[in-house]
Amino acid sequence: MMASRNRPEETVARVDRLTMAFGDTVVQRDLDFEIVPGTIFAIMGPSGCGKSTLLRHMVGLHEPAAGRVFLGGENFWGLEQHDRNRLLQQAGVLFQGGALWSSMTVAENVALPLELFTDRSPELIADQVAFKLALVGLAGASDVYPAALSGGMRKRAGLARALAMDPRVLFLDEPSAGLDPLSARRLDTLILRLRATLGVTVVMVTHELESLFAIADDSLYLDPETKTAIARGAPRDLQKQSEHDQVREFLNTRL
Ligand code: ADP
Ligand code: MG
Repeated sequence: MMASRNRPEETVARVDRLTMAFGDTVVQRDLDFEIVPGTIFAIMGPSGCGKSTLLRHMVGLHEPAAGRVFLGGENFWGLEQHDRNRLLQQAGVLFQGGALWSSMTVAENVALPLELFTDRSPELIADQVAFKLALVGLAGASDVYPAALSGGMRKRAGLARALAMDPRVLFLDEPSAGLDPLSARRLDTLILRLRATLGVTVVMVTHELESLFAIADDSLYLDPETKTAIARGAPRDLQKQSEHDQVREFLNTRL
């Protein structure tokens, strides 16, 4: 790996010998990986292996039992709280539920992070909101309340909100879960377009093979038996070449 990769401005996220646990129960141990800027990176593995837990560690919601999480080249838990908050503003997050605030319109949902965390004028915020809604194909839905949206549109609105602060990294937990196949494929296409137009890095939890093969450049497989990551690479390569039966089975049996 080139030395320049370690310059903070060129590093978006890195995990260094991370062990995750709830009390005495270890979820995964010794995770060690760096995410190359501009990639779509998938965290995969069977249900319960620790995918969501890893994502939550990467956005500062759980403190590591051991090891470190780096965001933008900085050791997250080594920082003071206000520096942690500054780092987290560079991370857009869409959780599995992806809940929008139901009492606010789509535009108000997307505007809220900008109102809370910036001192931009209402006009500037309105411009930003319109831009983000257009990016996700919801230009016409700004004044609609979440309850009136389809599942796919709700995910798009959640993405627009995650993008409100112009993050360098988007963290998405099972973005296409619960969507019909057409909406799920449209969401994949949208994620690819966001990467192309904004240059954003995407860290995505998924157990959906179609998404994996369609959009992930790189991936990490968390094994629930050994409680560690046993494979790393492009899903297509792992599907054919992983030395681990369970990885090949995972990538071959669910289409
Ligand atoms: P995945 O997203 O891969 O399905 P999770 O990360 O949600 O898996 O969960 C990994 C393991 O950690 C599971 O055994 C789950 O029961 C446990 N777990 C997740 N969150 C908590 C929590 N807040 N407290 C205790 N155990 C948890
Ligand atoms: Mg999960």
